[in-house]
Amino acid sequence: MRKILIVGAGQSGLQLALGLQDRGYEVTLMSNRTADEIRSGRVMSTQCMFHTALQHERDLDIGFWESQAPRIDGLGVSVAGPPAEDAPEGPLPRIIDWVGKLDGYAQSVDQRVKMAGWMETFAQRGGQLVIHGAAVSDLDFFARTYDLVMVSAGKGELVSMFGRDVSRSPYDAPQRALAVAYVHGLGPRPEHPDYDAIRCNLVPGVGELFVMPTLTTSGRADILFWEGIPGGPLDVFAGVKDPAEHLALTLRLMERFTPWEYARAGKVELTDGGGTLAGRYAPVVRNPVGRLPGGGAVLGVADVVVANDPITGQGSNSASKCAASYLESITDHGDRPFDETWMRNTFERYWTTAQHVTKWTNAMLAPPPEHVLNLIGAAGQIQPVADRFANGFDNPADFENFFFDPEKAGAYLSTFGG
Ligand SMILES: Cc1cc2nc3c(=O)[nH]c(=O)nc-3n(C[C@H](O)[C@H](O)[C@H](O)COP(=O)(O)OP(=O)(O)OC[C@H]3O[C@@H](n4cnc5c(N)ncnc54)[C@H](O)[C@@H]3O)c2cc1C
Repeated sequence: MRKILIVGAGQSGLQLALGLQDRGYEVTLMSNRTADEIRSGRVMSTQCMFHTALQHERDLDIGFWESQAPRIDGLGVSVAGPPAEDAPEGPLPRIIDWVGKLDGYAQSVDQRVKMAGWMETFAQRGGQLVIHGAAVSDLDFFARTYDLVMVSAGKGELVSMFGRDVSRSPYDAPQRALAVAYVHGLGPRPEHPDYDAIRCNLVPGVGELFVMPTLTTSGRADILFWEGIPGGPLDVFAGVKDPAEHLALTLRLMERFTPWEYARAGKVELTDGGGTLAGRYAPVVRNPVGRLPGGGAVLGVADVVVANDPITGQGSNSASKCAASYLESITDHGDRPFDETWMRNTFERYWTTAQHVTKWTNAMLAPPPEHVLNLIGAAGQIQPVADRFANGFDNPADFENFFFDPEKAGAYLSTFGG
């Protein structure tokens, strides 16, 4: 039986571990935290996942929270306009608002719930779970005793083994300051109270507010997630340690920049003491093969090798797609050695889908060109355009067909007589 070590128990590491276990591999999973520590710790993400990524979980029969998590049937965009001339510091008006329907629903299950649950399942099914924060020196030893070592440790220190791929990484600094608050008590969306949707609120030149339902440790909740352009008015969370202060700041910014979302937030309270998160990181694509001091090689997984800004909500989706792709590459390889050539080919197979996510996400971090503004505006008038945008979050490769190139965007809109 082939022996595989996976370091890091997040979306990709656990999904791979459970998938390989199911296919008869002898899997060891190393996590720097226990399930209880994860469950009672701080939130890590907003983790909204779309149909294709959720289907990979269903294929492994590990979508345990599907019936409890809110079904997200739509994805909407609101755009804030400039302030009134006589009130430059006053609440901004909303100049665009639409919602696209998703062909297959999305869901967000708090990673504290999911990762803790999956870790327990892995152990119950006979997997070897080791609680240890792995260092490079540990991996040097393990690379000699396992057929394959994969590093799925997210954006942690182990990424230092994987060099940055400059040709695929246009940014070398964080492009947004992130601030997340999980709340109970958010009011329904007046525009469509009958179904749940994510709303992406764009505040030009300032940043974005994402609002979405989730299933957290205390049941259904909503997430308020500010993405602020560094140095701008939303980049104010870095020194805030008190969760109550974090929420108060979140709400003050909503009152000014997205008053239509603030209007729903009169009764909100934090879900728990770990319900806030602030930080920032630079988007990056890395070399997929990590070289160990002793000469061994390890394969990077998901965020270790492709970490995009969460502005497009793709990291967990990509982690699921990466795990599914690697699972097939491992099985397809049979009993042959997992050498460096196989590792590079395995990553490139994943990159055929991941490249579209990276290209689109990096584009969304820059100020939108005129043809993109036209598309966003047109989606408010033409429902199929709104729907296509929404479903692009599930299949970002489709943006190649109508989003990046002004001529393709124009040709697409002209099919509606515009
Ligand atoms: C604010 C925010 C909002 C986001 N929103 C979304 C969204 O809506 N939709 C979406 O798809 N994505 C979203 N993402 C991205 C998504 O959360 C990540 O891309 C995804 O979790 C990556 O999965 P992963 O398996 O690569 O790593 P992770 O989920 O980060 O898991 C890595 C694990 O490895 C462990 N670890 C680290 N170092 C070690 C070590 N040395 N030894 C052992 N274990 C170690 C960590 O503790 C962690 O448990 C968001 C991210 C952020 C920060």
